[in-house]
Amino acid sequence: MLHRPYCRFSFNYSLFNYLTIIPSMLPDLQMNDLLRLRKPHPCGAYEWTVIRLGADIGLECKGCGHRVMLTRRELAKRLKINLTKHEEKTGEKT
Ligand SMILES: [Zn+2]
Repeated sequence: MLHRPYCRFSFNYSLFNYLTIIPSMLPDLQMNDLLRLRKPHPCGAYEWTVIRLGADIGLECKGCGHRVMLTRRELAKRLKINLTKHEEKTGEKT
């Protein structure tokens, strides 16, 4: 009897792997960026400020000041939009 579930499985698995890589790619974050997440904090605020950049991202709730650490992947999943626009820095330096 020919029974090869692995072929299909490994194909699905690699596709799954491919899809999970995408959300782990975050747009460039910078300190003090204002982020809006998909779900509000229990205090009611949607916006968070970036307070730490590294392997993990530190966020501070704009509503209550609560601080959390998220991995980049976690943040990518929860992030809705980065409200801070990083455009060409023109005339910022004096
Ligand atoms: Zn809060």
